[in-house]
Amino acid sequence: NLTDRLEGVFKKLRGHGKLTEDNIQDAMREVRIALLDADVSFKVAKQFVASVTEKAIGREVGKSLSPGQQIIKIVHEELVSLLGGDTAQIELDGRQPVVIMMAGLQGSGKTTTSGKLAKMLKDKGRRPYLVPADVYRPAAIEQLQVLGDRLDVPVHPSTTATKPVDICTQAIAEAKIKNYDTVIIDTAGRLHVDNVLMGELQEIQAAVQLSEILFVADAMTGQDAVTVADKFNTDLEISGIILTKMEGDARGGAALSIKTVTGKPIKFVGVGEALDALEVFHPERVASRILGMGDVLTLIEKAEAVVDKDQANKLAHKLQTNQFTLEDFLDQIQQIKKMGSLDQILSMVPGINKLKKIKDAPQPNEKELGKTEAIIRSMTLKERRNHKLINTSRRQRIADGSGTSITDVNRVLKSYSEMLKMMKKMRGKPGLITGEKRRK
Ligand code: GDP
Ligand code: MG
Repeated sequence: NLTDRLEGVFKKLRGHGKLTEDNIQDAMREVRIALLDADVSFKVAKQFVASVTEKAIGREVGKSLSPGQQIIKIVHEELVSLLGGDTAQIELDGRQPVVIMMAGLQGSGKTTTSGKLAKMLKDKGRRPYLVPADVYRPAAIEQLQVLGDRLDVPVHPSTTATKPVDICTQAIAEAKIKNYDTVIIDTAGRLHVDNVLMGELQEIQAAVQLSEILFVADAMTGQDAVTVADKFNTDLEISGIILTKMEGDARGGAALSIKTVTGKPIKFVGVGEALDALEVFHPERVASRILGMGDVLTLIEKAEAVVDKDQANKLAHKLQTNQFTLEDFLDQIQQIKKMGSLDQILSMVPGINKLKKIKDAPQPNEKELGKTEAIIRSMTLKERRNHKLINTSRRQRIADGSGTSITDVNRVLKSYSEMLKMMKKMRGKPGLITGEKRRK
């Protein structure tokens, strides 16, 4: 899938010490193919790659980011913007009752999503009113009635004998009387866009003050969803998009193209048949998920803010030449602490959950880190620079000074010497420490 494909591209880039125009172009060719395979429209993929390339070539490489990370960061930024930028809010502030109309093809998920949205709003303390306006199938009215009963949300008693536009005006009058603050209109769909359907929706639009027209599309239909969205937007001027069945859409093409093509934001996504399977659409999070990196970007940003690349290189050099002292160890602990709580940092590292599942693996934890810091602080400068000085009586003194036990002190010294041993083994294998190739 797209995530794996992009990961492959970035992995290749990581092998290069420096980004050149050539290897950027190569990588972007692959990104473009990956996007096309994910059913992103040709035009959108082309545009995307062009703007990433332009930024990658023009941008000064940040002090604390490797070239590979730099590219990932740019791709992420562009993905966020492709997906709509900031999270789009639904408009609920107008005069009450606020009216939301659902529109889309048959089977796209309008009725189910009307129910889900009513639930979401009800949970937020609003008083929704569900209005079935699909008069072609009695079963459609009943379907919404059943959802309303399950959610304990009132449903307008529509009949198939009434025109949809009249159902809507009557329902809104009723909502005013009953003090319902949000009216959700579920409309009919067709298998294909047709003029009768569009005329009916336009009639409602003309008669009623609509706060939102939400176009509902089945994400699994890929580019078709985008084409239909475009048509609805031309005829109705929709205000937002809801993509349903997103949990089944491994390719994500519709989500990636629809904003660029229609200019309208995705506001929600349906991720299952259950009534609570509706999520607010956050471009930022979705982009991170597409890149398959947990929240590694937040992590990169934090690192960028606090870790000085020169200092990191100095540290790497010390490690490689066996000059890494307990004092440097302390420095390192402080760098980590500057980035936030250890748990928080670790939760952003992909794969860390696997580590947590292994029972006997060393479990990094904040308390231990604090203890280690206190222990090193209780050492004299001489001791920090030469751990071999630290004999039994010194150990006792350090334990007393740091409010820990001799066992704790031994543990810190042991993990420090293990670290030195590990470094010795790693020496001569550049890249393991800084993530970059050493330049000869
Ligand atoms: P409508 O014709 O547009 O009103 O579509 P419906 O609301 O009747 O939904 C059509 C089918 O899609 C139903 O079987 C729903 O349960 C299903 N459906 C709707 N949204 C989702 C979703 O987000 N995920 C999944 N898996 N199924 C959905
Ligand atoms: Mg329906």
